[in-house]
This record gives sequence, structure tokens and C-alpha cells, in this order.
Amino acid sequence: MFGQSLNASAEEYLTLDQLLSRTDAVLQWDAAAGEGVLRTPRLTLSFFADMPWITLDYAEHQRAAPVRFDDGELFFPESYLGLLQNAGRGIDMETIADGRRVAAIFIDPGHGGRDPGAIGRHTVDGSLFEIFEKDVVLDVGQRLYTLLRQSYPDRQIVLSRLDDTYLTLEERTNMANDMVVADNEVVLFVSLHANASLNTRATGFEVWYLSPEVSRGELISRRRTQVDDPALISILNTLRDEELTIESILLARSVLDGLDGTVGDLVPNRGMKMESWYVVRNAKMPSILVELGFVTNREEALRLTEPDYLHKLTMGIYNGVHQFITDFEE
Ligand SMILES: [Zn+2]
Repeated sequence: MFGQSLNASAEEYLTLDQLLSRTDAVLQWDAAAGEGVLRTPRLTLSFFADMPWITLDYAEHQRAAPVRFDDGELFFPESYLGLLQNAGRGIDMETIADGRRVAAIFIDPGHGGRDPGAIGRHTVDGSLFEIFEKDVVLDVGQRLYTLLRQSYPDRQIVLSRLDDTYLTLEERTNMANDMVVADNEVVLFVSLHANASLNTRATGFEVWYLSPEVSRGELISRRRTQVDDPALISILNTLRDEELTIESILLARSVLDGLDGTVGDLVPNRGMKMESWYVVRNAKMPSILVELGFVTNREEALRLTEPDYLHKLTMGIYNGVHQFITDFEE
């Protein structure tokens, strides 16, 4: 997926300090299991000490020079540097876009109506303060809708729900999939959510994209292609799936960078994650899911009611979408 492979032959090794000082990675290390994860905002690299393979973003397994665990210390192949520093940078947007255009943006504020989504309950000035995910995401969705319509009058901008309405997941994806665009045009699917955690200290934003291992169902049907060979249909579907995944990753990265630019100095950037939830899985288009913040953290819950902060979140997503479109259509 990231188009880089590691050579398992003679390798220079770095100490953990050397590796971390030259990347923005953090390490989670389970000494008992001999298992570790190097995480950057763009890439998750999982490894077992002394095993000649690694896993990228929990999905892509590849052969690699092994991490050495020696005398209680970890040593990393120098080739990991390139992976951690350049994750995804090698993807060539021009090849992917191939003359296509973004014709429409589908914004989907999650939940609504009888489905409040995540709920935060906090005590503020001695009284109960309640915050519902459905309200936060509707607010940001409406702001984003207005902004995108102003900036892109020649594109379809659609908001799945305009008010506090309940929509099933099927209704949302069907609305997006039913949008009519030409063959050389794409729809972007931006799902908005807010987070909850038992750990009330958890804060920050994150952006999810679809795992390449999760099938989106049959994207290319026999009827559409006039192809009768099931094996060929399966190959076409795999290619389309990979293309959608790469586009989703690029959109996710762009939006994550956008959010980092507007709120990254206020809250943690929790990075890019792989999604396998229904709402994104069945959208047959580049799709991301933005988690705006945690309603379960008191400070963040309060922030998520401030128009200023909601505007910043909106601008972050907008900047990311705008950057993606600019790169895509360049
Ligand atoms: Zn949600």
C-alpha cells in the first residue's frame, strides 16, 4: 500500500534513541510478548523482535530486516527510518487521479434523532452539563456544508441530515452511492463523529480510513462491465478497492494535516487509523471518518460547545478537503 519494501540483507542498525530522534515515531513495546509497535501520525509499523517481517497499518505484511532485541535493548534496521519518515509520500496522486475530478462531497454528521451517539456528562459550576455527539457533529457538518458550498459552487455538496433527524446507516450510504456523477468524476464521503472513552483523560482528534482487507462488496458488477469472467471481475474489484483505499488514505492524511494546522496546538493529534465500520465500508467512494474529539473529557466536551473551536475544526477539515481536491485535480 505504501509501495516501499525493505531489504532483509546486510543492514545498519540504530538504537531506539537514534530512531526516535530522527522520526516522530513513538514506541509501544511489550517485552513479555517480544512485540512492538512504532506509531507515527501517518503509519503504524508492528514488529516482533528477531522476526524477519513487519506489518504496516495492521494490514500490509512485508518481509523486513528484523528488529534485534539484545541484552535488554532494541536495535532497529536503518531502513525503517525511510518507512517512518516517508510513509505514504511515495504515492503518486497524478497516477491515481488520472484526469478525474471531484464532482461532489457528501458530508455525513453521524447519529441524530433518537440516536444521540456518544454522551458526555460533566459537572460544571455545580450543575449537570450534558453533551451529545449528534449535536456536535451536526454543528460542524452544517458549518462545513456552508463553507464548501461557498467555495465550490460548481460541485454538488450534500449534507446527509440538515437537522436532528435519525437516519439508518444504509440510508446514509445509499444517499451517497446514489449521487449521480460522470465516469471521470468522484464523490468524497466525509463522515463526522465524536469520540467517547472510559479513560476520561483521552482527548484529541483522529481520522479513519477504510482497511484494504475489508471488502466493500461488489463494486464492479457484471452488469456494469459486460464482463462475464468471474475471475476478471474479481481482479477488477480488487484493483478498484485498492484505488479507493489509496484515495481514502490520501484524503484522510490531508484532513488530518488540516486539523493539525487549526487545532493541533490545542489538542493531541491521534493520527490516522484504519476503519472497518459499516458506514464507511459500504460507501463506494474515497471515504473517511473524522473523530472530532472526546465528549467524555470534561475540558474537551466544553471546547466542543464553543463556536470558535467548532469553527477551527471545520476549517481544519475544509483545508484538508481543499488540499486533496487541489492535489487530485492538479
Ligand atoms: Zn459516532
